[in-house]
Amino acid sequence: MIPLHEPRFSRDEVSLVSEAVASGWVSTGGALVGEFEHALAAKCGAGHAIAVCNGTAALHLAFLAAGVRPGDLVLAPSLTFIAAINGAVYCGAEPCFVDVDRATLGMCPAALEEFLSANADLDDAGQAILRETGRRIGACVIVHLMGHPADAAAIATTLRKYGIPLIEDGSESLGSLARGAPVGGHGLVHTLSFNGNKIVTTGGGGAALTDDEAVAKKLRHLSTQGKSDELYYRHDVVGYNYRMPNVNAALGLAQLAHIDQAVESKRKIADRYYETLVAAGIKTFVEQDWARSNYWLNVAFVQPDRRDSVIRGMRDAGIGVRPLFAANHEHPMYNDAPRGSLDTTVDLIARAVCLPSSPHLSEQEVSSIAAKLVALV
Ligand SMILES: *Cc1c(COP(=O)(O)O)cnc(C)c1O
Repeated sequence: MIPLHEPRFSRDEVSLVSEAVASGWVSTGGALVGEFEHALAAKCGAGHAIAVCNGTAALHLAFLAAGVRPGDLVLAPSLTFIAAINGAVYCGAEPCFVDVDRATLGMCPAALEEFLSANADLDDAGQAILRETGRRIGACVIVHLMGHPADAAAIATTLRKYGIPLIEDGSESLGSLARGAPVGGHGLVHTLSFNGNKIVTTGGGGAALTDDEAVAKKLRHLSTQGKSDELYYRHDVVGYNYRMPNVNAALGLAQLAHIDQAVESKRKIADRYYETLVAAGIKTFVEQDWARSNYWLNVAFVQPDRRDSVIRGMRDAGIGVRPLFAANHEHPMYNDAPRGSLDTTVDLIARAVCLPSSPHLSEQEVSSIAAKLVALV
């Protein structure tokens, strides 16, 4: 089966990981974690990066650092991998779903503005409250889905009026630019994932990035068991064991050195899918003119009544396509969560097929995947 997204390793990965093992520093002590954090902060244009054990942990810490507390609501897209929703729920919050924008696949700035102006008030303390239930809106998380930048600038402008902190889930968008700047610079915290299927992998891993020094301290403190004194095992808050091990950072450092090349290859793959499919009348997702996407996964749109048979036919032919994520508001745990209209979310999921997009796919492989899709549509 041609996988959706497969990592590629060079000798650099093998030698850096071997060095880490040979040094004896395989766990969370060791110099490579700090080096990886510096390289990440530089790549993303962020003041601070804290490397952690996975992207979900990074999201959990981000919500904690933003002050999300039990009983809060967290504004979120329903169209995303469940990790961002779960991270908020780990803090005792409940999601409140806002629709996405066809143009970006990310949260729709107009839908957000409309939802807040129709449903939210500011209380005496300047906190945003959902009028109907009186519950505080503790944060908003947006996701740069499939690597495509959401319009974070417009979303941040709306959220500022309501005093709601923004978290950017950039798990899929490392290497993408919006209006010339690396994705992730509009939120209080920007999170990354380095799972095996992402553009940069550490095996398992993640990171939380921020420009705010106090927030960075809090993220780091919470990720290291809330330790206040190393020698005497003193702790001053309930923290988590979320730090990234040194072996994983070694892998990440070697991977990060090749990211620009990976983005270039993936953009070429996207062009090839577009050319072949558009000629056959099949739409693919194309970036906005202000965006430069890493095209983590390419998406084609088919008729809703053809989606499942296309997916089955492709997989039978050894091509590992998948649908988009299932809508989070349809999961049993989040069935009753408050929401605005989710029409675009439901429509996109009904029509989307995600296509194999590994950076090392050859032109011939991309053409034959596209040809098979055309034959099945
Ligand atoms: C991969 C991913 C995550 C985090 O996943 P982990 O497996 O915990 O590293 C979060 N959000 C999105 C959108 C993702 O694609």
